[in-house]
Amino acid sequence: MLKIRNLKKAYGNLHALEGLDMDVTDGALFGFVGPNGAGKTTTIRIMTGLLAPDSGSVEFDGQDVVARPGYLKERIGYVPDYFGVYDNLKVWEYMDFFASCYGLEGLTARKRSLTLLDQVGLGNKADSYVDGLSRGMKQRLCLARALVHDPPVLIMDEPTAGLDPRTRLEFRDTLLELNEQGKTIIISSHALPDLAEICTEVGIIDRGKMILGGSLEEIIGKVQTSKPLTISVFQNMDQAIRILKEHPLVHTMTIKDQEIMIGFTGDTRQECGLLAQLVASGVLVRGFEREAGSLEAVFMQLTRQDEERVVLSYEAESDL
Ligand code: ADP
Repeated sequence: MLKIRNLKKAYGNLHALEGLDMDVTDGALFGFVGPNGAGKTTTIRIMTGLLAPDSGSVEFDGQDVVARPGYLKERIGYVPDYFGVYDNLKVWEYMDFFASCYGLEGLTARKRSLTLLDQVGLGNKADSYVDGLSRGMKQRLCLARALVHDPPVLIMDEPTAGLDPRTRLEFRDTLLELNEQGKTIIISSHALPDLAEICTEVGIIDRGKMILGGSLEEIIGKVQTSKPLTISVFQNMDQAIRILKEHPLVHTMTIKDQEIMIGFTGDTRQECGLLAQLVASGVLVRGFEREAGSLEAVFMQLTRQDEERVVLSYEAESDL
């Protein structure tokens, strides 16, 4: 549904996007995650036609939206990371205003607004002033406003930032409901655990590039296999080293006393196969373990600003 290729954007000398690729499938609840300053808002503003990229392509359903920004108007609802200045309006007036922007008038507009306010849990606030709403309620109102023309795609920039945990959970439920109704949702956040439970797909952005994308299981799997596997050998070290050197999935090897640390890109089944092979060849294995990574740890490591960053490709660091 959404296909971004080699997107670049600089603000003066600052390269905010450095060749970003991104794919979102139809019906997905896509978590667009990265630390502050990674380039999420810039990407979203380009995606929604508010900002022109320096180069690269953005396609919605095969349509080039950089060349045809008008195509997006009907198709997307956008919730920005700021609320805007409409505080002196009542909630229903606010909704009426946005409905009229999309050509809805009179009773049709009013009915649509009330349905949406109900859906986001603000049904009893239609007569309140926007000014008097809590932050969480304003966020819900923003969501209702973005849905006024019933767009198939909803794009939200850090919608849960600054919300308390309970409001966050309620907001999450509303998103799940909308996604179940068939809306494709793209939601950005600087915290992966915030989105992990609800997202069907995740893209991790860091320093203007998508560094990892796919389903959550795929991402955890990829990072997990990048952690070293530690094998403690009690006897027949030489034999163990010989087998590991010849193994096609072993890319790095560091030996310390009776311990061998390897970069091993196989899955759990292949790990078991390796252990069986070592034992069958007479190596006495005392320990065989891959460090587990929590989701949060995975995210922190992937987006770390220091040299301890997880290496997803082993070619660059072969010790063999
Ligand atoms: P994120 O949404 O992930 O926090 P942004 O897209 O807002 O990231 O910002 C990416 C980088 O571009 C940051 O270093 C930010 O300071 C810079 N940036 C964003 N907008 C502007 C702008 N209008 N002028 C100059 N620099 C900007």
